[in-house]
Amino acid sequence: MTALPTPRLVDRFGRIGRDLRVSVTDRCNLRCSYCMPAEGLDWLPKPEMLTDDEIVRLVRVMVGLGITGVRLTGGEPLLRRSLVSLVERIAALPHAPSIAMTTNGIGLDRLAAPLARAGLTRVNVSLDTIDPVHFNGFTRRDRFSDVVAGLKAAADAGLTPVKVNAVAMRGVNDRDVADLLRWCLDRGYELRFIEQMPLDAQHAWDRSLMVSQTEILDRLRERFTITPVESRGSAPAELFLVDGGPATVGVIASVTAPFCARCDRVRLTADGQLRNCLFARREVDLRGPLRAGASDAEIADLVIAEMALKAPGHGIDRPDFEQPERPMSAIGG
Ligand code: SAM
Ligand code: SF4
Repeated sequence: MTALPTPRLVDRFGRIGRDLRVSVTDRCNLRCSYCMPAEGLDWLPKPEMLTDDEIVRLVRVMVGLGITGVRLTGGEPLLRRSLVSLVERIAALPHAPSIAMTTNGIGLDRLAAPLARAGLTRVNVSLDTIDPVHFNGFTRRDRFSDVVAGLKAAADAGLTPVKVNAVAMRGVNDRDVADLLRWCLDRGYELRFIEQMPLDAQHAWDRSLMVSQTEILDRLRERFTITPVESRGSAPAELFLVDGGPATVGVIASVTAPFCARCDRVRLTADGQLRNCLFARREVDLRGPLRAGASDAEIADLVIAEMALKAPGHGIDRPDFEQPERPMSAIGG
């Protein structure tokens, strides 16, 4: 095997891009209220979406620039029909990156084993409550049992440790957090709460409705002993021991304690736009040059130039903060 590629995605603050998030579709079969309106969105027309060949080529170019991990997301990634073969092709690349996926879990009961065989190694399943009535209310779909089946299949397929992502919403599911933690602990799933961010399609985010890390921990402390794990490392989640450990619970406090200074992420949207930050106000088109016959070196130069411009932080707390036009489901969460 040849030597590992030299990391080339370096910005003005010395951060190095290593983790590529690839949105494989903007479509979804849930309508989580913090993400999408009930009626859904105007989905991308098929010709505008990257093909498998295009995704694999862009991943190959970016691996050559130092990307070591790929996370497939969306929208709902399991809705892309070719997902298993896409994973297989990325896993077969020289210096293949690790391949993870963030999913709502619907359909994972059928796909977890084939995806694991194809080369997927880790999965984060989003589940915000174990109360089916609450689930149906804010996802606007009756799919709770499908998510539970998907989680079990992921564990059975060896996609372990299975991680669960949860967003707490004030007056909606904020009272469910301790039940969700108990449920995850009983099944060996690692739970991570994510503070709600201004990335919804409706632009209805309101800081006063966001349930902060402090509030989540206070609620968990009503039932568990929660103590910080000493080192946070490079992961965005701050980890806490539950009842003395070894089990942990994490909180990704993107709003109240952002990890921008250690961010190593790069994002590719389903229509081939490169974003150097979830909150970036601009995107760089890779699909156009790709379809116009650009060489790998030309694509690489576009990516290097855009990553060099990465802002120091998302600035949610600044008075001039403007929410990105595209929602999380279109950017790729
Ligand atoms: N559909 C998949 C899922 O739900 O896991 C993948 C895409 S989703 C956009 C990725 C993650 O972003 C999910 O864990 C979801 O809960 C989270 N998310 C969506 N909108 C959010 C928001 N406004 N604030 C914080 N997290 C959000
Ligand atoms: Fe779909 Fe994921 Fe958005 Fe929920 S968070 S609506 S599952 S894309």
